[in-house]
Amino acid sequence: MNCPACRIIKLLAMERDGIEIDYCPQCHGIWLQHGELEKFMEKAKENALASEGSFNFLDGIFDMYE
Ligand SMILES: [Zn+2]
Repeated sequence: MNCPACRIIKLLAMERDGIEIDYCPQCHGIWLQHGELEKFMEKAKENALASEGSFNFLDGIFDMYE
């Protein structure tokens, strides 16, 4: 699947905590499969509760780009 924003750039698939994520190396957009967004939000919520409001799960995602 190509990036909906860049169009000619092919998305790279990766898995993080059991959630499949497609991301674009060009614009760094993150695209989720159907149903993955709900899992993603659940994970983010769990992590927020577990770490007193900080979004470590999201931080982890952005770490991938460094
Ligand atoms: Zn893109």
